[in-house]
Amino acid sequence: MLEDKNQEKTSLEQLGEFGLIDHLTQQFKLQHKSTIKGIGDDAAVLDFKNKKTLVSTDLLLEGIHFDLSYMPLKHLGYKAVMVNLSDIYAMNAIATQITVSVAVSNRFPLEALEEFYEGISLACELYKIDLVGGDTTSSTTGMIISITAIGEAAKEEIVYRSEAKPNDLLVVSGDLGAAYMGLQVLKREKEVFKVNPNNQPDLSAYSYIIERQLKPEARKDIVELLKKLNIQPTSMIDISDGLSSEILHLCKQSKVGCNLYEDKIPLDPTVISACEEFKMDSTLVALSGGEDYELLFTIDQKKFPELKGNPNFTVVGHITDKNEGAHLISRNNSKIPLTAQGWNSFAKA
Ligand code: ADP
Ligand code: MG
Repeated sequence: MLEDKNQEKTSLEQLGEFGLIDHLTQQFKLQHKSTIKGIGDDAAVLDFKNKKTLVSTDLLLEGIHFDLSYMPLKHLGYKAVMVNLSDIYAMNAIATQITVSVAVSNRFPLEALEEFYEGISLACELYKIDLVGGDTTSSTTGMIISITAIGEAAKEEIVYRSEAKPNDLLVVSGDLGAAYMGLQVLKREKEVFKVNPNNQPDLSAYSYIIERQLKPEARKDIVELLKKLNIQPTSMIDISDGLSSEILHLCKQSKVGCNLYEDKIPLDPTVISACEEFKMDSTLVALSGGEDYELLFTIDQKKFPELKGNPNFTVVGHITDKNEGAHLISRNNSKIPLTAQGWNSFAKA
């Protein structure tokens, strides 16, 4: 139905605010016992009994965090939820509810918002999340999305950024840099499209990296896997801004240093080939590209046998004393200080 380009578009005024909220949220089902009251009153009511409650929120602005010219609205809805769930999983907690607030201009027909909520609905279904509220208003400056994610965990399960200890191993889930390279491909295609709108690009070689950009997955599975393996990380953070800046957050908050080994950084082969094509350094892309939504965590060395050989995890380095600082050990064995931008090229030995 949404694919039909000739379909009449419905203006938002036709429905009114309450009709719109009802229409968009009616298909959402509540799944959690902790949701006492969802949408429909002045506030949602939640009950986590003896568990701790985790809350995280994100604001996404059109033109800054997303570009609707290559981001389909359904994907945007899905990704906006993932970005938030990722922060809850990074605490080693289980996400249970979200609220979704949106502001759109009247250039948005109802059908566009329906598509956006389809993505939200899919994310809620796959990740078992209750949509329990939000707010809807108009905007004169593009689309604005604010999502709050709520989760639960037993007190002793929660993992902070601040408890990494010297000699702990530094571990990442999945692989890095793909979302950033996917964005490079999409930006290039946008420029090609401007020049020749009839050009039909074959993007099949880039399907993995484009999917990582347009439809990222938050690593709920990793939180579950860690529990199954009986591994309680000593510290954890999600990789939203690039490996380098996330490592620096862990080191700063844990008051430790670290050695990260360049040759250990997990890269998908399609990231390496895209980097060659775009003449970019794949290490720099992994360190500074963003939006991977993988988990970065530290574990006691004694726990190494539990994850050794598991394809979901890569040990990329180890924690050191604070006074040793945070470094990248390059392939040719030089020790380069890590910076939020990747590494400090001026300090290169
Ligand atoms: P109020 O005027 O008190 O802010 P609203 O009329 O905005 O209430 O919201 C009515 C109900 O609908 C509330 O439960 C609210 O959380 C929910 N709601 C409003 N907008 C959205 C939205 N975009 N997505 C999900 N729920 C929403
Ligand atoms: Mg409101």
